[in-house]
Amino acid sequence: TSTSTVQLGQARNPKVAAWLDGRKPSLLINNEWVPAQSGKTFDTVNPATEQVLAVAAEAAAADVDAAVKAAGAAFTEGPWSKMGPAQRARLLRAFAALIEENTDELAELESLDNGMTFATAQAFIGVAVESMYYFAGAAQQIFGQTSPSAPTNFNYVLREPIGVVGAIIPWNAPITAAVWKIAPILAAGNTMILKPAEQTPLTALRLGELAIEAGLPAGVLNILTGFGPGAGSAIAEHPQIDKITFTGSVQTGRTILRASTGNLKRVTLELGGKSPNIVFPDADMEGALANSLAGFATISGQVCVAGTRLFVQRDIKDEFVENLSAYAAGIKVGDPLDPETTMGPLASREQYERVTGYLDLGKSEGAVAASGGNAIDGKGYFVQPTIFDGVDNSMRIAQEEIFGPVVSVIPFTDEYDAVLQGNDTTYGLAAAVWTRDVSRAHQVARQIKAGTVWINTFLELDPTMPFGGYKESGLGREFGANWYQHYTEEKSVFLKL
Ligand code: NAD
Repeated sequence: TSTSTVQLGQARNPKVAAWLDGRKPSLLINNEWVPAQSGKTFDTVNPATEQVLAVAAEAAAADVDAAVKAAGAAFTEGPWSKMGPAQRARLLRAFAALIEENTDELAELESLDNGMTFATAQAFIGVAVESMYYFAGAAQQIFGQTSPSAPTNFNYVLREPIGVVGAIIPWNAPITAAVWKIAPILAAGNTMILKPAEQTPLTALRLGELAIEAGLPAGVLNILTGFGPGAGSAIAEHPQIDKITFTGSVQTGRTILRASTGNLKRVTLELGGKSPNIVFPDADMEGALANSLAGFATISGQVCVAGTRLFVQRDIKDEFVENLSAYAAGIKVGDPLDPETTMGPLASREQYERVTGYLDLGKSEGAVAASGGNAIDGKGYFVQPTIFDGVDNSMRIAQEEIFGPVVSVIPFTDEYDAVLQGNDTTYGLAAAVWTRDVSRAHQVARQIKAGTVWINTFLELDPTMPFGGYKESGLGREFGANWYQHYTEEKSVFLKL
């Protein structure tokens, strides 16, 4: 079992190796694994080695059509359409238990395809499992209402599933993103088509196998691997898809919103961020430092809520940067399956080029790399964790989402200035504030325009709390007590007594 005989980028777990070896490129439609109708395939690359890891089927409009037919039939006449919430909850619990049982295999597959460390993948799968259990329970909490109408009437409001839902997800945390769509969509009684990102198609396919094993009826969950233009756009445009839920970039979010107008699909968008992380001088500095680091280096910074604009009060800024640089020096970049590694590569060549482009841009804009600042030579999409000092909030590196391990440190004078600069962005996904002053913490939390605000913590997610963005960071909220509003329709029924 010594890892020293295993080459970087190869599966170590024999089950994962066998799975990768044995898989034929296929799509999951109606609980059957079928090739794309065009016969086309595409490669998915291991970002630590730049070598082909597996081949996936390339879905296009015809495959989307077939999946929509299967999902439509499952919604209207299959066993799923006759199930009550308790039965759906049971299936989701069985599915969650299987994901948990297979955590290590899924984590290795995720790490090979995405580049995140094995431990990070395990942790994110843990979050996904908890979320699926939450939605299993929540399936039985979708209540309708009776109305205080005229005494001549008994009027009530039903909550019904919407129908066929298209879910399109990105590559940065593939399993979690998939489960965050699958669990609420199915809990509410819909059927669905999931399209994972072309960079990381593998774990979604494994989830499809586990869904069948858990007993999900045919057509309820269909999984189509493929590209944005092609599979993604066909989902966004399809007239028999009733709702679309998308997680990804702002630019694609706009395209999807436009495409959805054909049949006026319901739309939920979870988009990007450039989250402010605000440190006051009275903060618990160890907590602030450790979380500021995690805030821009977790999954190599490829996290939508990453705290990539680090606002530090002017008097403590230099010392904070020095200490944060010391923390960053402790990051071990390398093979994501090596237990010593704390940061893996970026997920794709495209992402590597984007991030290295921003490293050059930052320097040309006049920022100074207090730590890192460069790509790492050799095979694989590795870059140094980078702390840019001397940044002004108007610079492009402070305004544009880099989606890499790059943080911009920006000084502020007082609370007013911190909020003003913090809100000076087109995004509004998340924010954090570090202070021991209770009033100040809550004041800032109220004034920051973001869907999530963390006080003296970072990156905490909880399915009981709504998640989503202000401004260009999205449309709608997932999770929370009102989660079902996005996956159900209301129907008013009037009855004359
Ligand atoms: P992206 O928008 O390029 O791709 C995301 C998905 O959309 C992929 O599956 C892709 O194939 C598909 N897609 C691309 N073009 C499409 C089109 N025209 N029609 C339909 N589908 C299309 O995003 P990305 O760069 O791969 O992902 C990173 C982005 O995702 C970042 O902006 C990040 O902040 C965001 N993100 C947001 C959240 C959140 O919950 N708010 C979570 C994770 C990532």
